[in-house]
Formats: sequence, structure tokens, C-alpha cells
Amino acid sequence: MSARFRIGIDLGGTKIEGAAVDILGSVPVRRRVDTPTGDYHATVASVIGVIDAIQKEIGGIAPVGIGIPGTVSPGTGLVKNANSTWLIGRPLQRDLDAALGRPTRLANDANCFVLSEATDGAGAGLGTVFGVILGTGVGGGITVGGRILVGANAIAGEWGHNPLPWPAPGEIGGPPCYCGRTGCLETYLSGPAIAVDHHRHTKRRLSAPEIAAAAGSGDAECGATLRRYMDRLARGLASVINLLDPDAIVLGGGLSAITALYDRVPGIWSGYVFSDQVATRLLPPVHGDSSGVRGAARLWRPDEIP
Ligand SMILES: [Zn+2]
Repeated sequence: MSARFRIGIDLGGTKIEGAAVDILGSVPVRRRVDTPTGDYHATVASVIGVIDAIQKEIGGIAPVGIGIPGTVSPGTGLVKNANSTWLIGRPLQRDLDAALGRPTRLANDANCFVLSEATDGAGAGLGTVFGVILGTGVGGGITVGGRILVGANAIAGEWGHNPLPWPAPGEIGGPPCYCGRTGCLETYLSGPAIAVDHHRHTKRRLSAPEIAAAAGSGDAECGATLRRYMDRLARGLASVINLLDPDAIVLGGGLSAITALYDRVPGIWSGYVFSDQVATRLLPPVHGDSSGVRGAARLWRPDEIP
């Protein structure tokens, strides 16, 4: 075993990212390949290929943690809840362990994100942290005392498939979601969702970054779309604060780059949280896209590195 490194893999729907993370949190080696979308066996082979390439570079083997869309069901050992649907129902961990010849650790990608940010990122040193991915999909994860809260069903923090709380009359029912229900938070808060909402109200097709940029430049319609988005995000997060009462909520994913969220959403959520004052902080990520691989590597604690 290489004494200094843990390897983190972020298995995404379009890219497989890998990195060697040293004991101090530096990331001297990175690899990135396209995910063989739709092909399970090629996906397993690509992950192993990335691990092999990193191990060659660091000159030895190291513990491997892997962040995946979805999670491994504690009941069956099979992947569930993945929006990369070709992984669903597959024994991914067993196949990776067999191909590598030793045990890996797998966790939900949002759990890896929050573990990274709670270790040496925006939530470092805080007791309870809720991490939210606002991207193509919406996910969430929780750390308590710097450790992931996995849960009995391995779904702790899976907030994106709760319904939008305190719905306005026009929000009842809500858009259909891939999970089979309607009106999930993901159908309002993902990047594609804000674009759909903007088109519904204005008949203009703009992406989430375009809407945020235009809102910042004073475009009235885009400003209205962003206000609807922030009000929905604030309501969704208020329900998390009522349940979990975290010290901080850290945003990740593409939409976490919208700086207005950090200024304005806490002012809105105070109207919904069941408390006279709200001390919970809303924070941007420190490590950005690197949190996937950094958190995956940290599925192994420092004292577990041989
Ligand atoms: Zn859903």
C-alpha cells in the first residue's frame, strides 16, 4: 500500500473522475474519462482503469472510495435510486471489489460532497452539516461530527424527492418526476427545472446560468424566475432546518455558483422556520467540483490508511 494516499472516484452520469488525495488533503494526481453511458460492464471497467492509472502514478495501491449516483441498498447490496439508470439493480460494489481484488467503499455522491466540505471545506469544524447538490438533479447528504449519517435505508438526506413544502395554489400537483411521483423538490430546484419554469412563464428558452446572469443584469423576467426559485429553495431548506437543525447548509452543483442565493435565501427561510431566530448558515462550497473525489477518498479515515 502507498502510505500517503487514498483514492477517490466520482462516478458521474457523464464523467468518471478519479484522484489521489494525500493525508493533508492535497490532490496531486487526477484522471478523468467519459462514462460509458448505458453500459454497465464498460462502466465497471472504466472505473477500474482510472484506479489502475492513478496507482501507477503514485507507485502503489491505496484504499479506494467511490461516490455513485444513488446508493447501495443495505438489504440487497444492489444499486438503487440512481439517475444513471443502467446502474440500478446491479451489484456494483461486489463487481468492483472482485475486479480490484480488495474491498472498496461506495457512498452516495451527495454524501461524498458533504463529507468533503465538512472535513476541510465550508463546514469544517461544525457539528451538523447538510450538503445539497443543485445540478442536473437534486441530492443531499448529512454529516454529524464530521461523519456521514447513512441511515437505516442508506437514504439519509435524500431531500430531492420530498414534495415542495407550503405550496402555492399554482404549485399543487407539480411537475412529474423520474421517481414516479409529482412535485418533488428536484422538479423545481434542478438546473433543468429552473429552465422549464422560466419557459412556462415567459416562453423564452434559457439555461439556468443564462437566467441567473440576466437576472443579475436587471432582466425583469429572469429576476422573477430567480425569485420564484429562491422562494422554493428557501421553503425546501426550511423543512430541513425544522427537522435536522444543522449548523450549516453547504450548496454544491452548478447552481451553487449563483451568489444571490447566499444573500437572499436565509432572509426568506426565516419566514418558514419554526424558530424566533435562525442561526443556520447557508454557505458556498470551498472545493467545488473536487468535493466528489475528495469526499470519496475520505470514506477511508486517516487511521485506516495502512
Ligand atoms: Zn421524485
